[in-house]
Amino acid sequence: MSDTLKFVRHPHPTPTPADKRAALLANPGFGRVFSDHMVTIRYSDAKGWHDARVEPRAPIPMDPAAAVLHYAQEIFEGLKAYKTADGGATLFRPIENARRFQQSAERLAMPKLPEKIFLEAIDELVNIDRDWIPDGDGSLYIRPFMFANETFLGVKPSSDYLFIVIASSVGAYFKSGADAAVSVWVSQEYTRAAPGGTGAAKCGGNYAASLLAQAEATHHKCDQVVFLDAAERKWIEELGGMNVFFVFNDGSMTTPPLGTILPGITRSSVLTLARDKGIPVREEKYSFDQWRADAKSGKLREAFACGTAAVLTPIGTVRAPDGEFVIGNGQSGARTGELKKALVDIQRGRASDPHKWIHKVF
Ligand SMILES: *Cc1c(COP(=O)(O)O)cnc(C)c1O
Repeated sequence: MSDTLKFVRHPHPTPTPADKRAALLANPGFGRVFSDHMVTIRYSDAKGWHDARVEPRAPIPMDPAAAVLHYAQEIFEGLKAYKTADGGATLFRPIENARRFQQSAERLAMPKLPEKIFLEAIDELVNIDRDWIPDGDGSLYIRPFMFANETFLGVKPSSDYLFIVIASSVGAYFKSGADAAVSVWVSQEYTRAAPGGTGAAKCGGNYAASLLAQAEATHHKCDQVVFLDAAERKWIEELGGMNVFFVFNDGSMTTPPLGTILPGITRSSVLTLARDKGIPVREEKYSFDQWRADAKSGKLREAFACGTAAVLTPIGTVRAPDGEFVIGNGQSGARTGELKKALVDIQRGRASDPHKWIHKVF
């Protein structure tokens, strides 16, 4: 199958005026302000990947029997475009998103979009919507996704798919501010992923299944939910949409191993940066009981969540039905701050890039 496609460009006839865009970018929040364009690529069993377009962002007509609306055959990615000091734009490790998108596709019985086309689609959108990348701490959050678009109610892999990339200008992810520690609720009732399930795939269905647990967290005045493993209800897996790390008083760190968790690109980058700094890091199971004991004894100094949207976020308070505990002084710790700075400095082009993680769009 061909791994090149010609993108046909249809620029927006009436793009958002500069003054209106500036007002939107002044305080974009997360996921509410969208750029003017989108990229669409179609797939059918008969034609393969075809009809690649850059076009005005607009509603997509769908048949009410489109398979995704019934059986949730859908996957997505999330990455950010940053504005550089010289007025250019960069992406952070987009090839990893392209690869993970293929892995998610495989798990959901969907066709694999060639990596090259995935990257080109993102470059096209960032190029045409370059004015939507905010200055300062903001970024342009890129959301590639793909869904089953066959008009058919039978349960089987769809014969038609639509791949779309949209972009959203964003500021800080958590309302409380970038370095404020969050509180987490440890769900006892609900799990996120079981062995053999879709936990390692970035599919919308995983999020649908996490919402009730997140609502429970919110009800208990927590910012986020932490999931335990489905088999033993003992081992810490991850948050609803972020991986988790633990920092100990001997300087070492632990993060749960891959398997049922989502293989985060931020997680992988933190592991590499920590090893670069000579910090011993383990990818090892860590139980909730141990977490509580180590937090109480002082063996555990810090814990943080990580993901593209919020980068590194310190965890201050852990709440469960039988009580709560505080990590360190309940605020952001030194190691969390140090690793966050190291990562953000590379992402923003303020530090050298020894692992060639930065992809220049223009
Ligand atoms: C996307 C995601 C992450 C973080 O992945 P990054 O590549 O670091 O953004 C973690 N957990 C879940 C469930 C996710 O969907």
